[in-house]
Amino acid sequence: NTPSEELRRVDAAHHMHPFTNNSELGDKGARVVTRASGCWLTDSDGNRILDAMAGLWCVNIGYGREELAEAAKRQMLELPYYNTFFQTSHVPAIALAARLAELAPGDLNSVFFAGSGSEANDTNLRMVRTYWQAKGQPDRNVIIGRWNGYHGSTVGAMSLGGMKGMHEQGGVLDGIEHIDQPNWWSEGGDMSPDEFGLERARQLEEKILEIGADRVAAFIAEPVQGAGGVIIAPDTYWPEIQRIVDKYGILLIADEVICGFGRTGNWFASQALGLRPHIMTIAKGLSSGYQPIGGSIVCDEVAEVIGGVEFNHGYTYSGHPVACAVALENLRIMEDEKIVERVRDDTGPYLKERFESLGDHPLVGEVKIIGMMGSLALTPNKAIRAPFTSDVGTVGFICRERCFANNLIMRHVGDRMIISPPLVISRDEIDTLVERARLSLDETLVALQA
Ligand code: PLP
Repeated sequence: NTPSEELRRVDAAHHMHPFTNNSELGDKGARVVTRASGCWLTDSDGNRILDAMAGLWCVNIGYGREELAEAAKRQMLELPYYNTFFQTSHVPAIALAARLAELAPGDLNSVFFAGSGSEANDTNLRMVRTYWQAKGQPDRNVIIGRWNGYHGSTVGAMSLGGMKGMHEQGGVLDGIEHIDQPNWWSEGGDMSPDEFGLERARQLEEKILEIGADRVAAFIAEPVQGAGGVIIAPDTYWPEIQRIVDKYGILLIADEVICGFGRTGNWFASQALGLRPHIMTIAKGLSSGYQPIGGSIVCDEVAEVIGGVEFNHGYTYSGHPVACAVALENLRIMEDEKIVERVRDDTGPYLKERFESLGDHPLVGEVKIIGMMGSLALTPNKAIRAPFTSDVGTVGFICRERCFANNLIMRHVGDRMIISPPLVISRDEIDTLVERARLSLDETLVALQA
């Protein structure tokens, strides 16, 4: 065995991978990534691969930034760990909470830290119920999410999400309901996108009335569904959702785990879409993935109510000092290098133009993109928005494999191909991304015709 083959053998023997069907790994085993710089990964066979997914939508400032390593080292030497329970605090958590309050829109001024996006959404689930209990409305405990939404893998986050493959494996909590997603391409039928956006938003009102308005605690959604396939709602959708949550006085939780920290060309997607959430879930881009950290940024009213009871909730690593120090350094770099502005005004529009050019490919139906997250819906017939009927996911899987072979990481969700590159991707790298994507689509077409 070569050293690389040996790594793959040991990996296959001992390492259980998340969201992995081992039969899909084949004889070769997993791709072993050994180092990375900027937007490029190197694997154990020495291939250089363009990472159009920024890891798992998280390495926003790119790989290999020494400043983040230095920040971690400094913090580890000064105070490697302390907790934030029981009236204690420490400088990195204080500084990061204050910085997030500055960045977040409206009166989202308080932060409850967690170790990940899943944990943060579990916090939200418990926090909104505690909020309504403290307000003397304990029956107001039902939370509404969306089918095909993703909020994480812990029991609570999985239940809030609407990934049917996860629900089918059991453990879904009671007291959580779901409405349909605003995916016009697949589910819009004969409606125009605007009609469909309204129809899907109004499902929220129907659901609230079905449950009873005095029983609904909150609605949770991703401003742009990421893991569901980068589903960007029609323009009519979010204003109607905001109208409905306002009308019934329910809490709005915007899960900004992917969309936050510049991904859409704004600090938060809620700003781009005109949303006024009571709570935002954050993780991923908060530290550019260099340290595990997540959190909930909470509006004044909710923070005040929760602060007035003992909210019996917290994680050993809530506000971990090293993670907070790294996140602060990450945010400093984003600000100093004007990364959000670059996405909004320069590389984002360029990526949009280049990515949309793939729309002329015979396999590509819808092309959707906002900032630096985009998707291609693959179809055998774009005129009628036909799905591939054989085995949903197969064509997307073939295309993803062709991308891998062409040293490009794109992900597939069913037959949607998705991208979410590091926000620091250059114009040249965008050209490379689009060229390799087109080549992979061509090869997929050939494979289908064989
Ligand atoms: N929320 C959204 C929108 C996500 O995309 C994810 C992860 O992909 C999560 C929550 C869960 O975050 P984590 O994997 O850090 O637990």
